[in-house]
Amino acid sequence: MKDYTAQLEKYADLVVNVGINVQPMEGLIITSNASGLPLAREAMKKAYAAGAKHVEFMMADDAMTLARYHHAKDYVFEQYPEWKVELLIKLYESNYHHLYIIAPDPELLKDIPGDIIAKDQRNASAAMSPATKYRMTGQTKWCIAAVPSEAWALSVYPDESVETAMDLLWDKIFDATRVSEKDPVEAWKVHDQNLKKYKNYLNDQQFEKLVFTAPGTALEIGLADEHYWMGGSKQSLAGIPFVANIPTEEVFTTPHRYRVNGTVKSTKPLSHNGKLVEDFGFTFEDGKVVDYYAAKGKEVLDAMLGNDEGARYLGEVALVQNDSPISNTGILFNNTLFDENASVHLALGRAYAYAMQNGSNLTQEELEAKGANFSLIHVDFMIGGPEMEIVAYTKTGETVKLFSAGNWTF
Ligand code: ZN
Ligand code: ZN
Repeated sequence: MKDYTAQLEKYADLVVNVGINVQPMEGLIITSNASGLPLAREAMKKAYAAGAKHVEFMMADDAMTLARYHHAKDYVFEQYPEWKVELLIKLYESNYHHLYIIAPDPELLKDIPGDIIAKDQRNASAAMSPATKYRMTGQTKWCIAAVPSEAWALSVYPDESVETAMDLLWDKIFDATRVSEKDPVEAWKVHDQNLKKYKNYLNDQQFEKLVFTAPGTALEIGLADEHYWMGGSKQSLAGIPFVANIPTEEVFTTPHRYRVNGTVKSTKPLSHNGKLVEDFGFTFEDGKVVDYYAAKGKEVLDAMLGNDEGARYLGEVALVQNDSPISNTGILFNNTLFDENASVHLALGRAYAYAMQNGSNLTQEELEAKGANFSLIHVDFMIGGPEMEIVAYTKTGETVKLFSAGNWTF
């Protein structure tokens, strides 16, 4: 492995001082598995240097995750330890913020029955929702950043040795997160201002619909009533800006469930539940997927679209320009944090409440009445590329060109 000491320090600086934006006397929780330790250790230094009152490290371990799935009795997956929820709430109440360092193994759960995983995840997220609320309301700042695991690196570079694959993926992650730049913190300030510029413009305009044109794509997406564009840093309730995903390149909002018409072709493979779908596309009529194809992995789409009624409707439209550090790496990361930020993308399934005006205060019925889709799934797929053209229509029928040859026009 190459010596990454300098880059790791810059990466830690970025996740602590831009991602979480740790303030004096705040607490920090760092959650990570073993592959994340080198970054976690650096992040701990940076957090104390920024004035943290305490940094708590919470370890997750892939082998132990598997041990539980393989050996636990059925009833283990029916309940969730209440104290874990209470602990998190206690910490969040005490002004702790949360850094998640992920080093995923894309195929970790490939031998575990899907229904067990689904039941377990449903249980855990239902039990955790009182704690999750602290992040959703902005009381707790959070940031997700990634480092390579051996399994992940080999999934991206299957023909390389583990060592080489790890080095290659580290380099790509440093490029994609702007850590390779001379002053990553400054680069993120500029980048965030850009995203804010697009987000504010789109929110001011409240466009009626967007029309996407590219090879294999001629798609009209009506936007939900009172949709809200999100992008770049968020603000905590205390007024501190933080970046929840590093990297992030998207500005996104909520399509209207029933106002999507035309065809769309994917431009990157979709990795879903450990399986790959390639060269696929959808035809929409009044919002609903009425036809679809895939050169490879069509059965994955069959299962995905069959989840529930909402799985056949869109829940997100996200604009990402083709010229960005992530897409310029030229690789598929096999990880949503990176891949969805490499390209214009859509998501089938659930819309985000916070991508609607005042959305966090609306009931599910109120959100649906404005056109926000509901589903148990949210699956992003990429449609962007160097030939993508996007035209926006105002409510009075005037047009504005947003994307030309894959990039923002302004
Ligand atoms: Zn997105
Ligand atoms: Zn999404």
